[in-house]
Amino acid sequence: MPATRIDGKAVSTAVLDEVTRAARALEAETGVRPGLAVVLVGEDPASQVYVGSKGRTAEACGFHSVTHRLPAETREADLLALIGQLNADPAIHGILQQLPLPGHLDPQRVVAAIDPDKDVDGLTVVNAGRLASGALADAFVPCTPAGCMVLLRRVMGDDLSGRTAVVLGRSNLVGKPMAHLLLAANATVTMAHSRTADLPAVCRAADIVVAAVGRPEMVQADWIKPGAVVIDVGINRVDAPERGDGKTRLVGDVAYAAAAEVASAITPVPGGVGPMTIAMLMANTAKAACRAAGHPAPRL
Ligand code: NAP
Repeated sequence: MPATRIDGKAVSTAVLDEVTRAARALEAETGVRPGLAVVLVGEDPASQVYVGSKGRTAEACGFHSVTHRLPAETREADLLALIGQLNADPAIHGILQQLPLPGHLDPQRVVAAIDPDKDVDGLTVVNAGRLASGALADAFVPCTPAGCMVLLRRVMGDDLSGRTAVVLGRSNLVGKPMAHLLLAANATVTMAHSRTADLPAVCRAADIVVAAVGRPEMVQADWIKPGAVVIDVGINRVDAPERGDGKTRLVGDVAYAAAAEVASAITPVPGGVGPMTIAMLMANTAKAACRAAGHPAPRL
């Protein structure tokens, strides 16, 4: 039987509805309106698209939304000064520094300047430490793995006791926080990466496979244990001559059609994890605003 297609678009819409309701309730009860500031340095076209869509989604959720677009040649001291102002601004509850930064700016120094309680991307060392030490309630979790967990909970429930999980990829943005979240949900977790021996066998042992490597359709159907749940984080643009000259299409890190014949549930690309990332950014911002106002945060 083909796998259940986990519809990230539908789940993200439900998350955003819940966030919008929570924002309205917070404002009605405390006068606090969640505020999100997005900072973009330079003209990277993909980043421009992401930043535009984050701003529009924040507005649609009823947030106060500001976008700072700085020239590519911005000096680090000026960027740090802006982050300092946003840290001190009571109307801003979440700060997102869009990455990558131009080469002359040190991303670690810039991210470290963000107040951990406004770090809605979950990238500061403080939030990584909160997550790694199991202080989940206090942590802002990076949006993509947080979104993966929401999708996973829809098909497997909250408690992954007795389940084995493999995370392919060990980036600070996706792989590592994903592994901590799975561990916090009681899964037995293996982290795999480019130096892992016999990846297919490692994957075949897992009840849950999360692929975040950035290699188009690397994970084949015969890497998947029958009945496993597959979460495909990868977003890869590949040539699609069948669609016409010079055309491209997006594929994940998993060979979807064949894997769907073996897995019990799987996320598509596009329309799986992708839409969840922005929804979780809004959820984190609502959480930050609730926390700042001493109001219960929405549970998503
Ligand atoms: P990254 O920082 O480039 O990390 C990739 C990881 O994959 C590394 O740990 C690397 O191992 C591992 N890897 C690379 N080639 C491998 C191979 N052949 N076998 C096994 N492991 C391999 O990427 P990322 O930021 O985590 O993103 C991963 C993918 O997710 C990308 O396609 C990205 O576009 C996508 N993504 C999607 C969203 C979303 O919203 N859906 C958000 C973020 C990222 P080493 O550490 O050993 O080098």
